[in-house]
Amino acid sequence: MMKTHTCGELREKDAGTSVALAGWVNRRRDQGGLIFIDLRDRWGITQVVVDLEAAPAAHAIADSARNEFVLQVRGKVRIRPQGTANPDLATGDIDIVADEILILNRSRTPPFYINKEEGHVDEALRMRHRYLDLRREPMQANILLRHKTVKFIRDFLDAEDFVEIETPILFKTTPEGARDFLVPSRLQPGSFYALPQSPQQLKQLLMVGGFERYFQIARCFRDEDLRGDRQPEFTQLDLEMSFVEREDVMRLMEALAIAIVKQLTPQKRLIAEPFRRIRYQDALESYGSDRPDIRFDLRAVDISSIAGRSAFPVFVENVSSGKKVKCMRVPGVAGALSGTQLRKVAKDLENMARGAGAKGLAYITIPVDPEGELRGPIGKFFNVELKLELIEAMGAQGGDLLLFMSDQDEIVYAVTDALRNHFKADLDLDDDLLAFCWVIDFPEFIRDQENDRWDPSQHMFTMPLPEDLHLLDSDPGAARGSQYDLVCNGYEVGGGSIRIHDRAIQEKIFPLIGQTMEHAMAEFGHMLEAFEYGAPPHGGMAWGIDRLVMLLAGAPNIREVIAFPKTQGGTDIMANAPSTAEAEQLGELHIQLDLPEPEAAL
Ligand code: ASP
Repeated sequence: MMKTHTCGELREKDAGTSVALAGWVNRRRDQGGLIFIDLRDRWGITQVVVDLEAAPAAHAIADSARNEFVLQVRGKVRIRPQGTANPDLATGDIDIVADEILILNRSRTPPFYINKEEGHVDEALRMRHRYLDLRREPMQANILLRHKTVKFIRDFLDAEDFVEIETPILFKTTPEGARDFLVPSRLQPGSFYALPQSPQQLKQLLMVGGFERYFQIARCFRDEDLRGDRQPEFTQLDLEMSFVEREDVMRLMEALAIAIVKQLTPQKRLIAEPFRRIRYQDALESYGSDRPDIRFDLRAVDISSIAGRSAFPVFVENVSSGKKVKCMRVPGVAGALSGTQLRKVAKDLENMARGAGAKGLAYITIPVDPEGELRGPIGKFFNVELKLELIEAMGAQGGDLLLFMSDQDEIVYAVTDALRNHFKADLDLDDDLLAFCWVIDFPEFIRDQENDRWDPSQHMFTMPLPEDLHLLDSDPGAARGSQYDLVCNGYEVGGGSIRIHDRAIQEKIFPLIGQTMEHAMAEFGHMLEAFEYGAPPHGGMAWGIDRLVMLLAGAPNIREVIAFPKTQGGTDIMANAPSTAEAEQLGELHIQLDLPEPEAAL
C-alpha cells in the first residue's frame, strides 16, 4: 500500500503503529541532525521527523527534498515529546519517526506559495497554474463544499422522488436572453448545433414524457459578457415538476435552501424563515433592483405627496407631470460632517447619481440639535410643517442624510441601486448572514424600445399568472408572469416559473416577442407539437450552483468555487483556450474564416 493512512487522521491512540504516508512537502525545517517535514494531503498535515543517526538514508533524501516534492514516508507514530505538541493541527499530538523516505516526484519551486495564506496572488498567475492553486487550502475547502452541496441536493431530491436525467449538450437554440454558442456539424455541412443556454425545453418535454419530477446538475452555456458572478459555462440545479402550482415549487425549493444551509454551513445565519416575498414592482420601488440585498434596509420611499407641496420648482413640476419624488434616508452619516465635508460627500453622491442617468441628487441633513437648521441647498424650500411631515414619513433622526431622487422611474431605480451599493460597502455586512428572499409577480414582458417589441422577462415558456392571461390579447405589458426568483444577499440564486403547456397560449407569445410564426415553427415547432399530446401542467426552477456555493463559502466571486473557470475575457489561460483550429479541421467543417483586420480585432 502506498499510503496506509491520510495525513489528517493519525492521533495519540495510534502511537506505536507502523504507517506509510504519502503527500506533498508543505514545509521542511532542517535542524542539522533532525529534519522536520510537514507532509500534506487533502485530509491534513502530519509532521515527519527524520533523524540522521537512526535513519541516515532517509535523512539524506529529506535533505534533498523541497517544498511540493511528492514523498512516501514509512515510519512509526510517536506521541510528540512534552511541550512540542501543536494544538493548531488536528494531528498535532503525534509525529512520524521516519524509517524510509521515497521521492515519488520532484517539483520546481512553485510560482506562488501553496502553504501560506497570502495577501494577494495575481489571479492570472493562479489561473495559469490552476493545478497548483487548487492545492491551496481555501480552494480545496471550496471545491469540497461544492461536492457536498451537490451531493446533498441529489440526496434531498432523490428522497422527494425526483429522477436525475441527462439531456443533450449538442442541441438547438434554447434562449435565456444570451447569445448561443454554436458547434458546426461535420456530418450535416452548413448546420450547427447550439449548446443549451439551459435545459429548459428538454425538461418541459420530460414532463410531457411523464417523469413528473426531474432534476439534473446541468451545464449551461451562454455567450455573454462576463461579470464576477457569471461564466460562459456554468452549472445549474435544473428541476421540473408536473401537476404543480407556483406555491408547490416555491415551498419545496425553500425547504431545500434551508436544509442546505443548516446542514452544510451551520455557522451561517438565515434571515427570515419563511423567506420574505417581495413583489417585483415593490423591489424596484424600494431597492431599485429585482435582486435586493435585504441584509440592510436602505430603501427609497415615495414622498411625492410632500415634495409636490414644497417650493422647490423641480419637485413641483415633476410631481404635477406624474413623476415621483423618492427619498432615501441614510442614518447618521451627516451628523459629524463639517459644511465643507458635507458638500464634498454630496458632490460625490451626485456624481454617482449622474453616472446612473440622473440630472442631479438633492439632499438635506437632519440637525442633531432639535433646534438646528436643515442643511443642504433644498432645505429652504420646505416650510416647517412640510419638514415635520418629511421627518415623520422617513422616520428621520438627527444626523441623518436624506437624498432625493426624481426622474423617470428607470433612472430612479438605477440611482437607488447605485446608492445602496455605495453605502453597502461602508456597512461591513456580515457574510455569515444569508438573507434569502423571493421576488415574485414579475411582468411577463419587458419593453424593448429599440426593436419595438416585447422581450420575455424570464423566457418565452413562462405562463402568465392565471388572472392576467387575458391581458396577452389586450395589454401584454400589464400581464404578470408566474416567475419566482430566489435571491440571496443581492445575488439571483435561482429562478423558475409555471410554464405554458397549451399550444394556443404559446403561439400567442411568439408574435409579441417579435418572432414570425415561420421562425417559431422552425425553432420551437417540436414544443408546440408536444403540447398537443397531453402535456401536463408543469413548472420548475433552476439554481446557479456556482453562485450558491460562492455564497455558502463566503467567496468573493464564482471563480473561487469552480475548479477550472474562465477568465473575465472568457479564456482558459492555463490550456490556452479558445485557440485557432487547423486548416484541415476547418476544411472538414466547410468553414472559411472572415476575420477582422488584426488592428480592428478585440
Ligand atoms: N431555464 C430557466 C433559467 O435557466 C430556469 C427555469 O425557468 O427553470 O433561468
